[in-house]
Amino acid sequence: MRPNQQLKNCQCKLLFYFCKMLEEKNKDRTPISELGEFGLIDHLTKNFKIKQESTIKGIGDDAAVLNFKDSEVLVSTDLLVEGVHFDLSYMPLKHLGYKAVIVNLSDIYAMNAIATQITVSIAVSNRFPLEALEELYSGIETAARIYNIDVVGGDTTSSITGLIISITVMGRANKKNIVYREGAKANDLLVVTGDLGAAYLGLQVLEREKQVFQVNPNNQPDLDAYSYLLERQLKPEARLDIVKLFKDLKLKPSSMIDISDGLSSEIMHLCKHSKLGCDLYENKIPLDPQVISTCEEFEIDSTTVALNGGEDYELLFTISQDDYPKIKANPNLTVIGYMREENAGMHLVTRADSKIPLQAQGWNALNDQK
Ligand code: ADP
Ligand code: MG
Repeated sequence: MRPNQQLKNCQCKLLFYFCKMLEEKNKDRTPISELGEFGLIDHLTKNFKIKQESTIKGIGDDAAVLNFKDSEVLVSTDLLVEGVHFDLSYMPLKHLGYKAVIVNLSDIYAMNAIATQITVSIAVSNRFPLEALEELYSGIETAARIYNIDVVGGDTTSSITGLIISITVMGRANKKNIVYREGAKANDLLVVTGDLGAAYLGLQVLEREKQVFQVNPNNQPDLDAYSYLLERQLKPEARLDIVKLFKDLKLKPSSMIDISDGLSSEIMHLCKHSKLGCDLYENKIPLDPQVISTCEEFEIDSTTVALNGGEDYELLFTISQDDYPKIKANPNLTVIGYMREENAGMHLVTRADSKIPLQAQGWNALNDQK
């Protein structure tokens, strides 16, 4: 089972929680200035517990000290900017903290490695009271607990307008187990975890409801029909379970990437780095029933959404055909195509059995379609 129980009870009803919180300006708002910088850091980080053997020194000195012995060390970082990467009118801060950690962990798992530590740096304006930062940090703490990682440092500074969060993640792996974007061979199977397109549609639903809310703030929408889409957008998970599965199955993918920008551009990354082409079968792309019904409602093509939607944080990888028996009974894994020689090109094989060249369109293509 995927580890998202902790945030499960945050249902759609909480959606406009932050709007409401802003409305109730006078309740429980402690200005950050009351604590001072050091008081604030102490307050926000006091619940973090060190769990990893590789953490020698965490928060509290000029630098953290880590010891990875014989492992290779992996490092990845992400920067999230309010108004560009998130919108606090429908993203509760607790979820934002959680998601900010998840997107980083996903990059480490995409290398077939285990994430072990993060640092968290924030820039905040005085628009945010202490209680808002407590929410953000409770999401960060929840993710750290579930995924067994230590928060070992960060930086705190002020910003003139919005909120900026930068997380850096460290991880470890044996050299021989690391999987790169390059390494796939012609005829390898192209495999994806979970299902695709839901997070993008969740965002579309939220954007629509935000507009309704702006016109009528008392309107509390019934979002039950979109619960899975909203969950995928507001509290995504990273596929640590798949890294563990590979270990159990003694399976090493020949190449791998996480799906943050949409299936199409990620497949193209694997092909380019491995100097190959591919055939991707439209009828194999895994879609949740809510994705299919919501695409009908929004009059968008579900394949376009899966190809270009993004933010799914699933893993896309290639395996040798000899390894197929190891994965074939697993409901979390779907074979969606196979790799070909470079000169064959990168194609989508449609339901009507015609071949069209893959394009990394990203979200613009989706916006044009509406
Ligand atoms: P410095 O002046 O050396 O930058 P700070 O006073 O900013 O040190 O930080 C003190 C300690 O608290 C350090 O261990 C730092 O990594 C940690 N820290 C600072 N800000 C954060 C934050 N937002 N989240 C987690 N840890 C933080
Ligand atoms: Mg500092």
